[in-house]
Amino acid sequence: MSIKKFKCEKCGCRVVDEVMVNVTQTTEIVGVDEDGLLMYGKSDTDGGKISCFQCKKCGKVIRDKEDKSITLLKELAEFIIKQGTGK
Ligand SMILES: [Zn+2]
Repeated sequence: MSIKKFKCEKCGCRVVDEVMVNVTQTTEIVGVDEDGLLMYGKSDTDGGKISCFQCKKCGKVIRDKEDKSITLLKELAEFIIKQGTGK
């Protein structure tokens, strides 16, 4: 099995960020410690949709060949496969 990885055209970073909008995040607050800091428990996200994919480092938005920003996981996968940088 060969794994293909994203490579940013601009900075060479190998990690993509998935940016989501309209997400509701719920986090449990389980108590307050001696210093008065809230102690958080589990968190959960609900809803939302992908706004874009971008390079983790430089923030370059990933676009398809028609210069539209990619918003579907399937298209992102195809983009990375086509880009074809393994290892
Ligand atoms: Zn980059």
